[in-house]
Amino acid sequence: MCREKPLRMNEFALPTAKTKLVAVIGDPVRHSLSPVMFNSAFRALGMDWLYVALPVKLGSSRAAIDGIRALNIVGLSVTTPHKETVAAAVDQLSPVAMKLGAVNCVRRSGEVLIGENTDGKGFVESVRSGLGLEPGRSKVVVVGAGGAARAVILALAEAGATIAVVNRTKDKAEKIVDQMAMKNVSTSGFESISDADLVVQATSLGMGNDDPLPFDPNLIGKGQTLVDLIYHPERTPIVAAAAEHGAQTANGVGMLLHQAGEQFRIWTGEKPPLQVMAAAVGLSFGQNTDE
Ligand code: NAP
Repeated sequence: MCREKPLRMNEFALPTAKTKLVAVIGDPVRHSLSPVMFNSAFRALGMDWLYVALPVKLGSSRAAIDGIRALNIVGLSVTTPHKETVAAAVDQLSPVAMKLGAVNCVRRSGEVLIGENTDGKGFVESVRSGLGLEPGRSKVVVVGAGGAARAVILALAEAGATIAVVNRTKDKAEKIVDQMAMKNVSTSGFESISDADLVVQATSLGMGNDDPLPFDPNLIGKGQTLVDLIYHPERTPIVAAAAEHGAQTANGVGMLLHQAGEQFRIWTGEKPPLQVMAAAVGLSFGQNTDE
């Protein structure tokens, strides 16, 4: 008779009746790196938590939030296309989520669901710890005026940076500046790039093979830093061109990890193991991350 070998597992290798559940909602969401990233962090810290990806169609955010409430899911990540609709469905918003009108993280306080937005803080942390730049003392040009740009602009502005927003559709840049109503945020033209300490590439250009460059790389060079929020591909054409012109460059991996790390901290109260999270999804992330 063949006796089955008992499974040998770590203490929290399998979910139990006590496991705390967190999730990401989005559409599409099956490509998400977040489950591997967060589950590796829980495992590394020996926490009985589990993170799953839940595909939720456009128009179903409110039903999903009701489900989170009913199922006692303790934390939620929110991605496209739900960031704005979840902001309207939760009970309370953090000041940043309220200013952005967008939520990428929900936490639970008893029966109350609170919407947060960690994108901007994640970006600023990644610049501080990964690039050795103090954003509060920097002259910054943000190229782009979509959701990611808004989050980055608000966090940089609150840190004290002087920011010029440049976008293909000027009206959108003007709308952001009007809504933020901060004296250190204004619109500008692409030529302002040549005068910036830090340039943030926040358009979606560079993800597609045939995309044009988001700006003329001759505008950037030595003594300047370019951060492209895109991390796939790892090295976009504008990153390559700016590096050739002598600029310090980075992609969006730092922001991705730090915004996730902040979500981890919000839900668990623990310091996020950023190196573990990066390694789990095969991202190279080498600088000062676990300080
Ligand atoms: P979004 O809201 O759709 O905004 C897209 C931006 O790209 C707009 O400013 C748009 O300009 C510009 N754009 C698109 N096509 C263009 C073209 N052909 N020429 C010039 N400008 C063009 O997108 P998002 O959510 O802000 O995301 C922007 C990028 O950030 C994406 O690549 C995303 O992957 C990345 N991202 C990274 C992280 C991270 O953690 N690293 C987080 C969030 C987003 P118009 O206003 O003129 O249309």
